[in-house]
Amino acid sequence: MKSKYQKIKGTFDILPPDTQLWKEVENILHGISEQFSYEEIRTPALESINLFQQNVGYETDVSKEMFAWEDQSNQQVALKPEMTAPVVRAYIESGFFRSNPLCRLYYIDSLFRREKPQKGRQRQFNQFGVEAFGSSSIEQDVEVILIAKTCLKALSINETILHINNIGSPETRIKYEQLLKKYFSQNIKALSGLSQKRLDSNPIRILDSKEKEDKLIIQNAPIIKELLTAKEVENFNTLLANLDALNIQYVESPHLVRGLDYYNGTTFEITTESDKSQNALCGGGRYDFLVEQMGGPSTPAIGFAAGIERMIIESKHQIKKNAIDIYISCNESINSPKCFALVHNLIENDYKIFFDTNKKNPKNQIKDALKRNASFILMIDQDMTIKNIKSNEESAVSDFQQLLNFLTLQ
Ligand code: AMP
Repeated sequence: MKSKYQKIKGTFDILPPDTQLWKEVENILHGISEQFSYEEIRTPALESINLFQQNVGYETDVSKEMFAWEDQSNQQVALKPEMTAPVVRAYIESGFFRSNPLCRLYYIDSLFRREKPQKGRQRQFNQFGVEAFGSSSIEQDVEVILIAKTCLKALSINETILHINNIGSPETRIKYEQLLKKYFSQNIKALSGLSQKRLDSNPIRILDSKEKEDKLIIQNAPIIKELLTAKEVENFNTLLANLDALNIQYVESPHLVRGLDYYNGTTFEITTESDKSQNALCGGGRYDFLVEQMGGPSTPAIGFAAGIERMIIESKHQIKKNAIDIYISCNESINSPKCFALVHNLIENDYKIFFDTNKKNPKNQIKDALKRNASFILMIDQDMTIKNIKSNEESAVSDFQQLLNFLTLQ
C-alpha cells in the first residue's frame, strides 16, 4: 500500500528497534559528557538568519544551504544549520557568561542544511557536540579532543583518523588568505567552477573542496604553518606532545583549515579510515573571537560537533536485549479495573509489562509473549495464573501479594 504522504527529501524517520539504538548511543554521549562535567544546553530550532549569516560565514553558496524564509510577520528566520552560533548566542543573551566565565556545555540536537541529499548527507541530521568557554590554555584543546576520542571508543568506533592543524590568529589567516589567493590565481584555470567563485570571496574554503580537479592543486598549496608565530608553533607542539602521552594517534594535516569564518588556532577533524566521500565523523576547533564578535565579553572557546547518524553507521555497539518481564493476557470477559490495578501495581514495582489490550485468543497470546521475549505470562480469567515461560512452572494466585511472592521466588 502506498502512503498518501511522503517524508521531505533528505529527512528520515527512525523506527524501533533503531530508536533503542539511538537511545543507547545518546545515553553513552550524555554519560561521557557528564563524566567530564559538561552540562547540557538546548536551544530553539528556529533562529534569526542574521545569526548565521553574520557570524558563521554562511555566505553566498552556503546560505543557499539554509532552510530560511520570511515568516508571516516579516521576520527572517532559519532552521539552525549548526550549533556553535546558537550556543554562543544563548551563552551571551542569558547572561550565563557572568556566573559561568569558565563554562562547559554539550548538546545533542537536530540540524538542517538544504544541501544535496546523498549517502551520509541529510537535510535534517543530528549532532552531538561540546563547547568549552573561558580557557585559552592548550590543555582545554587536549580535553576536547580527548572527549571526542572517548565517545568514539565508547561507541566501538575504532578505525578512525584524527587530522589536526593549527591555523594561527586572525592576522595569520589574513596573510594566509593573500598567499592562497596568489597561488590559486596562478592555477585558476585548473580549479573547479565553485572554487573559482570562492577565489575572491573566501580562498581558504577552496582547501575544503572535495572536487577531484581541486585536490591536485590543493596538494601543493602553501601551508599556514610557515606563517605561525613561535608561540603558536610551541602551543601546537605542546598539544601534539599531550596527544602522544595519551596514546592518541593523529595525522598533521597542514591544509585542514575548516571553512567557517570563526576558527583560529587548533582545528581538527576525525574521519573513518575509509576514503568514502562522507567519511568525516567529527570536526572542531578554537573560536576565540566569536563570543566578543557576537556582543559578549572577550572569551576564548573551543568545541567540536560529531554527526550522530554517521557515528551510528560506523558503531559496532550492540543493542541491549529489551525483554519484557510479564505479558498480561486476559480473556474477553475480563474485569478491566481489576486488570489495571495489577498493571499499575506491577509498574510501581518496576516490572516491565506488555498488556494485551487486543484480548487475543490464549494460543496467540502465548505465541505473542514468546515473540516479545517475555519471562512470565499472567493469565487473567475468573482466576489468575502466573507462568514462568522458560521453566513452565505455574501457580494460581489470588492477589497481588501472592503474585509478587511467585515472581520474587523465580
Ligand atoms: P560540520 O558542522 O559541518 O563541521 O559537521 C560536523 C559533523 O556533522 C560532520 O563531521 C558529520 O559527521 C556531520 N554532518 C555534517 N553535515 C551532515 C549532513 N548533511 N548529514 C549528516 N551528517 C552531517
